[in-house]
Amino acid sequence: MARKNNNAKRRLLITALFIIGLMAFIYNSKLFEREPPQVLIDETVYWNLKKPLNIKISDQSGIKRILIQLGDGENNITLFNEKHNAEEKELEFNITFPKKGFYSKKNQYIISYEIVDHSFWNFFMGNKIVKESIIIADRQDPLIHVTANSYKITKGGAGIVIFKVEDANPNEVYIQTNFGKKFKAAPFEKEGYYIAPVVWPREQKNPLNAEIVATDLAGNTAREKIKYYIQDKNYKSSKIQLTVPFLNGSISSLAHDIADDETQDMNSLEKFIFINDTLRKESVSTIEEVSDNINYPKYFTLEPFYPLKSSAVVAGYGDFRIYEYDKKKVSESYHLGLDLASTAEADIILSNRGRVVFAGENGIYGKMIIIYHGLGIYSLYGHCSNLLVQEGDEVTAGQIIAKTGKTGFAFGDHLHFGIVIQGVEVRPEEWMDEKWMRDNIFDVINSANYLIESENNNSKWQNN
Ligand SMILES: [Zn+2]
Repeated sequence: MARKNNNAKRRLLITALFIIGLMAFIYNSKLFEREPPQVLIDETVYWNLKKPLNIKISDQSGIKRILIQLGDGENNITLFNEKHNAEEKELEFNITFPKKGFYSKKNQYIISYEIVDHSFWNFFMGNKIVKESIIIADRQDPLIHVTANSYKITKGGAGIVIFKVEDANPNEVYIQTNFGKKFKAAPFEKEGYYIAPVVWPREQKNPLNAEIVATDLAGNTAREKIKYYIQDKNYKSSKIQLTVPFLNGSISSLAHDIADDETQDMNSLEKFIFINDTLRKESVSTIEEVSDNINYPKYFTLEPFYPLKSSAVVAGYGDFRIYEYDKKKVSESYHLGLDLASTAEADIILSNRGRVVFAGENGIYGKMIIIYHGLGIYSLYGHCSNLLVQEGDEVTAGQIIAKTGKTGFAFGDHLHFGIVIQGVEVRPEEWMDEKWMRDNIFDVINSANYLIESENNNSKWQNN
């Protein structure tokens, strides 16, 4: 009797262990995973009903059944009703708005999904997700209206544009140019208005073409060409013969000073090419990186820049230089600043308040300072001997920020003065000329303000 009892107990124990083991197996097995399928789509979706709407579905045990329906509150249309095998763990659907089936042009639709996976969980029924998203139909392109813009842009120079964008669900606003560069826009005085600088870079041979682009959350895009008068400009072009004494002397010692590690194993011609090509590119991209901001400060003003008292221009902006060695072209470059010289270690004076965004070594520019003044406009001071400000400093007009010098790719004490607009070095002369600044920048801002102000008054009048 006792033995029988013992056998029964043992059998019970084995069965219990088997069940626990089985449960543990089920619980940990991939076949029995308990995660419902994932649907990658927002709860609220803005849709222009034109571009296909993308939905991504995934599940670790594979997707078994999919039912996707679109409803307008009265009718329901089945978009997808499919079965899939367990290998299909990720599926992507491009939903196009049905041409037939909905009678009404509603502004809102509901998209619903019912998706089951291949898991054995839930007594082999699988995990299921039932979900809905609201579709906000937005068939309207943004409306762009140019309020005011500079009349003219000269090659190497700048202009601005002020415009209004109207849209129910706005997304992005920027200026697209025909050379790839996008200029960011900053909010202007009144809601819906923007201001942006536009530049025709010195190196671009094709005439500038700039358009305002506005997108909305539903995928609608509007474009509006800005009507600038594009004025070409002839810049100086010169051929410079590199001589052996120059390469072995000045260039070799310069390479030793500013790029010793990289140029150690090079001959002196290679050193020159390294400095004028590779190092120049690096220095320019540092400038681009620190000067990409855009904002429009509340009281935006600029005085003409006049960084060096009683100075002479020793090299112009935009000069194109072709370097030859042994009568063969070995390198070329554009000079994108204005070289000014007075006495050695002369005071560099700031003409406008701003914030120091760079103060340190920058390759061919040597010891360099960049200061931000608002509206994407920066001033740049290169080849300094002594820097008197630090990154992050708020600086004021009249402040002495550095002393001139010959650091970097420079062979005499001078200031390389630059104006950078959203990463592009432009003609500094424009920003040193009070009349140019008034005609091309501040009159444009004032006339936009005037138009916005009169629009405000008109709407007040209508409300009364
Ligand atoms: Zn220079």
